[in-house]
Amino acid sequence: MRSWRIVIGKRPLAGLAVISILALVALCVGVLVGVKTCSVSVSAWDRQISLSTRADTVADVLVGLNISLSPGDVVDPSPETAIADGLEIEIERARPVFIHWSGKSLPVFTAENRVSKILSMAHVEKEANDVVYPGLEEELTEDCIIRVARVTYGEVEEREEIPYDTQKREDGSLEAGLTRVYNQGVTGLIQVLYRVRYEDGKEVSREEKSRAKIRDMSPLILLVGSMQQVSRGGHDIRFERALEVTATAYCPCTKCCGLTAAGTTCTGVPATKGVIAVDPRVIPLGTRVYVDGYGYALAADVGSAIKGSKIDVCFDTHEQALAWGLKKTKVYMLRQ
Ligand SMILES: [Zn+2]
Repeated sequence: MRSWRIVIGKRPLAGLAVISILALVALCVGVLVGVKTCSVSVSAWDRQISLSTRADTVADVLVGLNISLSPGDVVDPSPETAIADGLEIEIERARPVFIHWSGKSLPVFTAENRVSKILSMAHVEKEANDVVYPGLEEELTEDCIIRVARVTYGEVEEREEIPYDTQKREDGSLEAGLTRVYNQGVTGLIQVLYRVRYEDGKEVSREEKSRAKIRDMSPLILLVGSMQQVSRGGHDIRFERALEVTATAYCPCTKCCGLTAAGTTCTGVPATKGVIAVDPRVIPLGTRVYVDGYGYALAADVGSAIKGSKIDVCFDTHEQALAWGLKKTKVYMLRQ
C-alpha cells in the first residue's frame, strides 16, 4: 500500500524553496536597481523641508510634497535630476518684474535677479543710446522695476538776469527826507547755452556750453537829500526833513466836518488857518511844519481819509478851502 503522506509531505517543501528563491531574487533586483531611501532637503521660498524619499527624480519629490511650479519658477537642480542621498533642492519662486521701456510697462514673471538676463528673457533689446536702471550687471532687490530709457541730447538757450545794484548819493541841493532817481536801474542780461541730456524726453542734466552778455547791468542811483534849509518869501526855513504830500483843504463848517462839527480838532485846538490834519504815523501830532503854498502850521488834527503822505490843510472859510482844491506840495518838518 502506497502511503499518500509521502507524496503530500514532499509538496510543502518544494513550495517553501520556490518562495525563498523568489525573495532572494527580488532582494537582488532591488539592490541592483537602487530602490533605497535617500535623505534630501527642499528649500521652497518660505519653508525648508528635510525628508527621506524613494523618489527617482527631483520632479517626483516635488510631486510628493504637493509643490506645484509656476512659469518662471526656478528649481535647482533641474526637475529631471536623479535623486541622490544628501541632495539639496532649491526652488526660487518667480515674481513679476516690470520693464518700463519705450513708453510701455512690460510684465515678466521670473525668479531671475540679474537685470541683463531679465531683459534678454523679455526680448528687450537695448539700443546704443539707452540707459538701464538698475545697471545691466546689477541684481534687482525689493524694487522689481527695470527702466530702459532712451537718451537724447539737445541745446537749450536761456537768459539770465543780473539784478541791478542800488547806490545812494547824498545831494545837498535836495531837501533832507526826499530822494530822486538819478539813474534808473537796468538788469543785466546774459544768454546761456546749455547742452541738455534727456531720458525718455525728460531733462535729467545739463551742462553749460557758453555764455554771452546781451546787456550790461546798470545800477539804480538814488539821490538822497541833505539840504535842511530853504528860503520862502525872503525867510529862511530850517527843517529836519521834508515830505512830498497830496494836500486837500477843509474848514470848520458842517460840509467839511459833518453836522456835529464843533469847530475844534481832535487835539482840542480850534480848527482854523494854521492847523493841518495828518496821518500821525507819518507826521506826529504836535509837529510844527511849513507847508509850501500854505505857510506855517501845526499838525493838530486827523481825518479818516488822511492816510500816508496826505494832509488836509485848514482854512477859516469854506470858500478858501474850495479855492485850495487839491495840490501836490511839500511839508517841511521844522526843527522843534
Ligand atoms: Zn468847509
